[in-house]
Amino acid sequence: MTCPRCGSPEAYPWGKAGRQRYKCKKCGRQYYEPMQAADAPGKLEAAFSDSEIKELLRPRVSFAPASLDFAGEKLKLGIMTDTHIGSRYTDDGVVMSAIEEFNAQNCDAILHSGDISEGMSGRDGHVYELTHVGYARQRDACINLLSNLKAPKKYLISGNHDRWYLSKADMGADIVADIAKGIGAEYLGHDEGDISINGVVIRLWHGEDASSYAVSYRVQKIIESFTGGEKPNMLVCGHTHKSLYMMERNVHAISAGCLQSQSRWMRSKRLAAHRGFWIATLTLGDGEIKRIDPSWYPIY
Ligand SMILES: [Zn+2]
Ligand SMILES: [Zn+2]
Repeated sequence: MTCPRCGSPEAYPWGKAGRQRYKCKKCGRQYYEPMQAADAPGKLEAAFSDSEIKELLRPRVSFAPASLDFAGEKLKLGIMTDTHIGSRYTDDGVVMSAIEEFNAQNCDAILHSGDISEGMSGRDGHVYELTHVGYARQRDACINLLSNLKAPKKYLISGNHDRWYLSKADMGADIVADIAKGIGAEYLGHDEGDISINGVVIRLWHGEDASSYAVSYRVQKIIESFTGGEKPNMLVCGHTHKSLYMMERNVHAISAGCLQSQSRWMRSKRLAAHRGFWIATLTLGDGEIKRIDPSWYPIY
């Protein structure tokens, strides 16, 4: 323990408020014991084997790939991501305009690639950026809004924001499981999940990586990380709030943008938000995507 003001190692214990507090014997400065968060991954690695860590991180709900019985050869997908419902930077009207377009176009299935809710990060000031504070209010706001989706099938994965309720303070609350139940959607998993449609595999992906300097670089890296046998036919990425369609290693990839507007945090990191959604029409046959018509609907 060293005093952050004078550097003296001598201190009295000075009460506790979550963490132990100290008072410096020399200069009288009161301070908390430093957070050990940076050591946590190291401790985990020392205490558990790789397979045990994998097991610890394994979600408690079963995440078998969902399959969609689909008779037609054309499949219309409504694609949305990063709605961050509960954030001041998310306008319900904007999310609703995407939902209304999906409904008007009779989408067969809706995909959401995570960060459905804004969550609560615990970052100083984050709570002031919320319209809905707390688990129950954010869950209900998500259900209220997303239950307007009329498509017969809806698929969700969780993003890092959704998982703050799971991991922070070991709360263990899986908000996306509750949202999926509330809107009659299938919950495909944390961060990634597969849907299989007539032999065509569509993978939803979120990730926790920072934004790369080029949108295509990130998507390319994700696709490179798939081994030959486990490549999906299509990849739908969330998280970076960037919009892009590209094809790499025969994977049709859509970086799905976001439905949250530029937030203060994103602006401070000088990250651009591409706000909007996609409607992609796939022509399927022989277990392949024969043709894809991806349409991007920007929202300015
Ligand atoms: Zn996001
Ligand atoms: Zn995210």
